[in-house]
Amino acid sequence: MQLLDGNFCSAEIRKEIKQQVDAIKARGERVPHLAAVLVGNDGASENYVAFKAKDCAEVGFDSTTIRLSADISEQELLEKVAELNADAAIDGFIVQLPLPKHIDTNKIILAIDPNKDVDGFSPVSVGNMLLGLPTFLSATPNGIMELFRRYQIETEGKHCVVLGRSNIVGTPVSVLMSRNANPGNATVTLAHSRTRNLAELCRSADILIVAIGKTEFVTADMVKDGAVVVDVGQTRVPDASKKSGFRNVGDVDFDNVKEKCSFISYTNGGVGPMTRASLLQNTLKANQRR
Ligand code: NAP
Repeated sequence: MQLLDGNFCSAEIRKEIKQQVDAIKARGERVPHLAAVLVGNDGASENYVAFKAKDCAEVGFDSTTIRLSADISEQELLEKVAELNADAAIDGFIVQLPLPKHIDTNKIILAIDPNKDVDGFSPVSVGNMLLGLPTFLSATPNGIMELFRRYQIETEGKHCVVLGRSNIVGTPVSVLMSRNANPGNATVTLAHSRTRNLAELCRSADILIVAIGKTEFVTADMVKDGAVVVDVGQTRVPDASKKSGFRNVGDVDFDNVKEKCSFISYTNGGVGPMTRASLLQNTLKANQRR
């Protein structure tokens, strides 16, 4: 079994990006600038945004965090998005999800200028991805593809089962895996909560990508010998032994499943850091496009 080490790969990507930023500076051009909008103070979102700022500092990007109160109105948030769309000093921005319930997330995503949509969530970005046109690829699916690329995982002709059909992970990664590209060219089955015979289906997977948010759902008996397993799931569970009071648990029973795999990612240090690295890649792209 070999670990798909997202910490290692993302550090490599950051080094590569830093070299490009150094070249941008040497040419006397403006360095990439990423902004993050944080509404309220959800603990996990606070963490993600703090990591993003740290990543930006490491690669030499400018970064701005805009903190807004949880009771901001939808209209006020739309105005903030319009302001960021118009701000020539900002190459790309994200609105950290989830948003408070009184705000329509789709309305906010639709309001983001597709040229600054470094999360790759806008209909324009998603449509371009479907058509195989240049675009900002959604960060987590792209991070998974980058892991396959860097570990030279053979995907062509393989049966890839994706568990979970969310707009941000399952659906886009199923599209990327089925594209005529490398990595890609897999035969993909997209499964969800209404799928029948899930265990049997999983056992037929050469590549299993799991993004359902159900702790340790995939057990060893659901995995074929030699499979490649990617665990996207990250659920916080209380843990008094941790300083933070919680630990992240994945969707895969890692300790037992790993014995059967050729490659496997672990919930911590797997897809998460790759997602952050993809965001940096998209921000660099946005800067260079402009
Ligand atoms: P989501 O919006 O929470 O949706 C869950 C998906 O899983 C839905 O499609 C649902 O099916 C399906 N599902 C739920 N229970 C199932 C079951 N028992 N059997 C089969 N399918 C089931 O998904 P998400 O936002 O992609 O998040 C999934 C997990 O990934 C979460 O733990 C999240 O924290 C994590 N995540 C991690 C990263 C990262 O960077 N590491 C990024 C994003 C998300 P239906 O559509 O039928 O309801």
